[in-house]
Amino acid sequence: MPRYFCRLRLAVASLMAALATSGSSDAAQTSTASQSSGSPTTVVIDAGHGGHDRGGIPGQTIAEKVMTLDVAQRLRNVLSASGYRVVMTRDSDVFVPLPTRVSIANSYRNAIFVCIHFNATQRAGAGGIETYFYSRGSLPLASAIHNYVVGGAPSSNRGVRRRGYYVLRRTNIPAVLVECGFLTNPTEAAYAQTASYRQKLAEEIAAGVRARNSVASDSFIDQTKVARSERHKSKRSHKKSARKKKSSSKPAGSEARSASIHRES
Ligand SMILES: [Zn+2]
Repeated sequence: MPRYFCRLRLAVASLMAALATSGSSDAAQTSTASQSSGSPTTVVIDAGHGGHDRGGIPGQTIAEKVMTLDVAQRLRNVLSASGYRVVMTRDSDVFVPLPTRVSIANSYRNAIFVCIHFNATQRAGAGGIETYFYSRGSLPLASAIHNYVVGGAPSSNRGVRRRGYYVLRRTNIPAVLVECGFLTNPTEAAYAQTASYRQKLAEEIAAGVRARNSVASDSFIDQTKVARSERHKSKRSHKKSARKKKSSSKPAGSEARSASIHRES
């Protein structure tokens, strides 16, 4: 009896291991297949701010709305060339209310939502890339986009974060908001002002969209809870995921804790 159980357990264990090993490659193949056959995935690209809403903080030299639109348009070009159907929530310097952006996103099936922003804060030294999601189903997309953008940017990694921004909370398709660096940081602002860097950002975001089903990372910082519980939960979340996977570089701890100012509308 004990021997039999032992063999059975070994057999089950090796079967589980085989399934686990094949799991990720299967997911990647499925993703490729679904893009080459059937209807193409629609990517709803949302350039943050616009019109009377410049974005950023008062007195900020570089208008965030200009940078977000430029990256969004470049992203559209890259994704369209890859065969994606692309919808823009805005394609010029106009103000689009958040509920309208969400309605546009929710009117497409087999779609994903990618919202482009740049960050701002009073502390000029603050910098880095952060990517937000809200629904659990959006985490793979957030992780993939974040890994690619961080990998291609000179900026530090502020991590994937879960937070209830309106456009993330109210969309019912996988939805991600990327903060492509701080326009209040002199170095990151200088990069953002070059067309080649904005093109690079667009290409990395597009690479994340393509790889959204094959990037194995579920590490994130939970910012959905308030005050005291926030730090505790975020630490716990990191420990839990750190045990499972180590595919992405760690977010810079001190930077991750420093508060950035992001005004969504
Ligand atoms: Zn913004």
